[in-house]
Amino acid sequence: MGVALFTLGGTIAMTGSSGGVVSRLTGAELTTAVPGLADLGVPLDVRDAHAVPSANLTFRQVLDVVVAASTAVTDGAAGVVVTQGTDTLEETAFLADLVWPHAEPLVFTGAMRNPTLAGADGPANLLAAVRVAASSAARDLGTLVVFNDEVHAARWVRKTHSTSTATFASPNVGPIGHVIEERVRVLTRPARREPLPLPAETASLDATRVALYPLTLDDDGLLLDGLTETHHGLVVAGYGVGHVPSALAPVLGTLAERIPVVLTSRTGSGSVLRHTYGAIGSETDLLRRGLVDGGLLDPYKARVLLRLLIATGAGRDTVAEAFARHG
Ligand code: ASP
Repeated sequence: MGVALFTLGGTIAMTGSSGGVVSRLTGAELTTAVPGLADLGVPLDVRDAHAVPSANLTFRQVLDVVVAASTAVTDGAAGVVVTQGTDTLEETAFLADLVWPHAEPLVFTGAMRNPTLAGADGPANLLAAVRVAASSAARDLGTLVVFNDEVHAARWVRKTHSTSTATFASPNVGPIGHVIEERVRVLTRPARREPLPLPAETASLDATRVALYPLTLDDDGLLLDGLTETHHGLVVAGYGVGHVPSALAPVLGTLAERIPVVLTSRTGSGSVLRHTYGAIGSETDLLRRGLVDGGLLDPYKARVLLRLLIATGAGRDTVAEAFARHG
């Protein structure tokens, strides 16, 4: 059985010009540059979706690719690979994971070194991604990120370095598998969760605005003024285990009466707490004021989940339940 390959631009597809590299290579050009790919015995159905830096991707474009990937699987593909820029890959892969309903793997990959550089990593990443997408060992794992011969669960993976080819890591758990020689070795199998519904209309997704607010030292919170006029939800990236300055606690509490406000940590790994600290502005205080516990979700993933939920009409209780399940 074959694998469907969707290309979405990014460094993996970039090539030189005097002003710097830009996304230009087609899927056919990408695949011919991969030694060993043709010998895998995995027919590839290559589709060029968007040739853009990943900074330009939208939720809608990503969900359109997920829908097309889903059709490819229904039509018989053993799995799907998506190539894209690495900058937003942790968010796009998580978005896809939230709605992916199939046992067949949906695998995201990209590159840190563009094809004009010595040691370009795109070919190795693409080869490993196709191996994983075609592997029965990767079934029922949801959406995966394959990079640097590691297999990461989309729900946990982060881009952790601006230039390293080992940039993708899952700080709370590590990779769930590896590609070793030609074999896909899965070491741990996270339980799947029910897929969330897709937004019925483009308009509801495009019109849904969710803000992300990272707390910083001596923060006066002025940026939060009037937020409910423009936004439908807020993710707070609090200090440490989920703290804010005491003066901001009532401000966030008032916001939480009007829109869903999710509490996460700005630290990059670990969870927010629920009932350890007791001061004004602590996690206990903020949850009592109506903020939603973001659990282990990092702020970027929490924002993806919250926007998807609000775009599908979820109210506060549904939002809290979904974060209890995914966070
Ligand atoms: N700026 C690029 C992008 O995300 C970086 C990359 O692909 O690694 O499109």
